Order: sequence, then structure tokens, then C-alpha cells
Amino acid sequence: MTGRASANIPKSLRDLWKHQDEHGRQSTPDNMSSAKAIVSHDTHANGGWKLEDVTVRKPGDGELLVEMVATGVCHTDALIGGIPDGASPVAFYPRVLGHEGSGYVKEVGSNVTVAKVGDPVLLSYAFCNNCPACKSNGHSHCPDFTELNFTKNAASPIFTPSKGGDENSIHGAFFGQSSFASLSIVRACSVVNAKDLIKSKEDLQLFGPLGCGIQTGAGTVINAAKATKDDIVCIM
Ligand SMILES: [Zn+2]
Ligand SMILES: [Zn+2]
Repeated sequence: MTGRASANIPKSLRDLWKHQDEHGRQSTPDNMSSAKAIVSHDTHANGGWKLEDVTVRKPGDGELLVEMVATGVCHTDALIGGIPDGASPVAFYPRVLGHEGSGYVKEVGSNVTVAKVGDPVLLSYAFCNNCPACKSNGHSHCPDFTELNFTKNAASPIFTPSKGGDENSIHGAFFGQSSFASLSIVRACSVVNAKDLIKSKEDLQLFGPLGCGIQTGAGTVINAAKATKDDIVCIM
């Protein structure tokens, strides 16, 4: 007879073991989802980036839970994740970086209309959507861009270490998305619904870098500089 079969064991503990037997020891509470994330505890140079098991909280007002299928890696991830803790308002740890994510919506919080569960989405930066720049479609010139995308004030606590630790102690919402995670909470303003564009998971993976690299690189040359085939451009 094992200890688990003893009739003296409290019902609450027997219920917990039953739950673990049915769902596994690593099962998470109903209000959390299990995921893997690259958590930056310190700068990359100090070996502070670690692939870890985490849990992700439920999406709140204006947020979506997205299952990532791909993320690009941009120099801004390395730049921000290379600044020592506290040396700048944008440098704090622990956090999850990444801002060229693409994936499928798993859950939708309140007041979200941009996408439904199951929709393929591409992810980009966050903006206020209330200022004159945002109202004239100049979202990248939003005066709150730095505040909303980089600072601790806007970096919503989202992830909890699976091995134990304070709940939601790891910050997310980097560029509104923190895509270096298999599941992440994403701000609705960062979401582009691609259900009429994307037909396969492979396409969704390929389009991930639209969130930053393609629009700031090709977009600058084609749309801002309006360069044509006879122009000479200098890329700095
Ligand atoms: Zn970038
Ligand atoms: Zn704005």
C-alpha cells in the first residue's frame, strides 16, 4: 500500500494528487497557462538570458493571449537587454524581450475587437491611439512611444517562474508583446489581424519580422525615402 492510498490523508491533498495524476505534476492553476520564455535576468553579456519554464496570467482589459509560432530577433532586443539594471529608465529585470512576434490568438480579454480566438496575428509596437499623431495614423510618432514600449511603468507583470517565486514577477509587454515566449500577453494596439492574409502556419512564421525589421527597413526605403531602382541609398 502506498501513502497515497491511506484513508487518513486529507481530502484536499487527495484532490490535489488526483489532479496531478490526471494532468501531470507540472499542471498549472486554471487561471494560468504554462509556457517557455527567454527570461532576461541581467544583461546578455553577463549571461543573464535564460530559457525557462514560466506560467502566464490571463489576459486583462485590452489584452490578448497569443501562442507564438515565430519571432524575429532585432538589434533593439540586444540593445535594451544589454543595458545594466537601472542604468536607464528602460533597463530593468527580470523581463521577457522580443518584438517581431507572430502567432494565433488563444484567449481574448475584455474590450478587445481586433481579433478572435484562433485568428492568426502579426505583432508590432504599442501606441496610445489618442494623441494627434496616432489619430492621423502616425502611430510610430506617438509621443508616448518610449513610455509605452520600453519603461517599467508600461511593462505589465505577466510571467511567473514555474520553479517558484513571486506571482507575475517577470515583466512583459516589451513593444506591447514580449514575443520571446511560447505564450505571451499582447496589447490589442500591437495586434494586426492577418486572417485574410495568412493561409498557413508557415506563412505566419515568415511574416513575423513585419513587426519591426521589414517595416523599419524596407518601409523606410520604399515609403519614407521613396527610393526607386535608379537611386543610390546609404544605410547607416
Ligand atoms: Zn526592432
Ligand atoms: Zn499616441
